[in-house]
Amino acid sequence: MTAETARGTFSKASVRDAEVEGRRALVRVDFNVPLEDGVVADDTRIRAALPTIELLRERGAIPILVSHLGRPADREPELSMRPVAARLGELLGAGVTLAPGLVGDKVGAVTEGADAGDVVLLENSRYEPGESANAPELARELAGLADLFVNDAFGAAHRAHATTAGVAGHLPAYAGLLLEREVRELTFVRDDPARPLCVVLGGAKVTDKIGVMDAFLDRADQLLVGGAMCFSFLRAQGVATGDSLVEEEGVELARGVLERARGATCELRLPMDLVIGDRFDAAAERRELNGVEVPEGWIGLDIGPGTAAAYGEAIAAAGTVFWNGPMGAFELEPFAAGTRAVAEAVADTPGSTVVGGGDSAAALAVFGLADRVDWLSTGGGASLELMEGRELPGVEALNDA
Ligand code: ADP
Ligand code: MG
Repeated sequence: MTAETARGTFSKASVRDAEVEGRRALVRVDFNVPLEDGVVADDTRIRAALPTIELLRERGAIPILVSHLGRPADREPELSMRPVAARLGELLGAGVTLAPGLVGDKVGAVTEGADAGDVVLLENSRYEPGESANAPELARELAGLADLFVNDAFGAAHRAHATTAGVAGHLPAYAGLLLEREVRELTFVRDDPARPLCVVLGGAKVTDKIGVMDAFLDRADQLLVGGAMCFSFLRAQGVATGDSLVEEEGVELARGVLERARGATCELRLPMDLVIGDRFDAAAERRELNGVEVPEGWIGLDIGPGTAAAYGEAIAAAGTVFWNGPMGAFELEPFAAGTRAVAEAVADTPGSTVVGGGDSAAALAVFGLADRVDWLSTGGGASLELMEGRELPGVEALNDA
């Protein structure tokens, strides 16, 4: 995709336009990947960063990559970037040198010794307490490793950390290709969608997503609610929710959204039928409920077939669909049908489709539909904050175009 044909808006300097030949480029990537038995279990995020890394290498720059991995309390060896370096090397077909830390003399020796063609990966940025604190000294030291900074870590762009924001104050700072595409795809949905705009929200916690709901009450044509979060809304309407997952704090928030929805042009829709189970388990007793009153001792675990069909029709008729959050406990096969129906409708609609959220992406992958959506965001929290209209520190810190 070229900048000319891209949709959405983006006002920051792109790595495409940077002078990089012979220069060291500190590249913030999102390599926060799941590990299993010391190897990378899902390399989606690594592959998403390859275009920027390859562009830099083709243009004669030396990429010095940096990312966080998990939430290490201190230098936990289990959260070393070593398995990531190994996987990245396989994907690039090139050797990747793992530096022995984030900053310091030994790291400086590695980055200074690197030549065009080499790729360096720094150790887990959260091994340094100054990372999350955005310590000015750490940002300065990081900047000393390179001639320019590229941020391609959209998934971390909502955090003002030393490697996402602080370091950008000390070097010419450019957007990577992935970060730019993420911002463009999401701002297109937020600011300039083809109508009707249908927003589908699910998942576990209302409190995570209430900001997005609020923002879309003024912008979307339809807001379809599923997942456990629908029970905060049903409770707010005085409907019995049995043993379903309800956030007490979410009930008040849901009540506010329901009130605001009355005056809004956006149509807010809640499930009209449910699938319930007697426990959160794939072997649970399963019942289809013709309605939404959940009996005592039962848990609402999926939207019902009537709701799934109705949501599917709205999605099929949409000009743009934004989907975040599964419609039910899709990890349990007896309760996966609602999420599968929504995923299939999103895959089949002729409208533009953008999906955010780690579990929604996982659901699409399980159903074999991940390549059937127009844009699958790599940023859960970052995509929600952008949709809410909040500034992302990792984007704001970059040079203007
Ligand atoms: P995403 O990562 O896509 O943003 P969330 O993290 O908000 O999604 O929510 C995903 C989780 O919500 C899944 O693990 C799923 O099992 C859970 N969930 C969805 N609906 C229900 C429900 N009715 N009861 C319990 N858990 C649910
Ligand atoms: Mg999640």
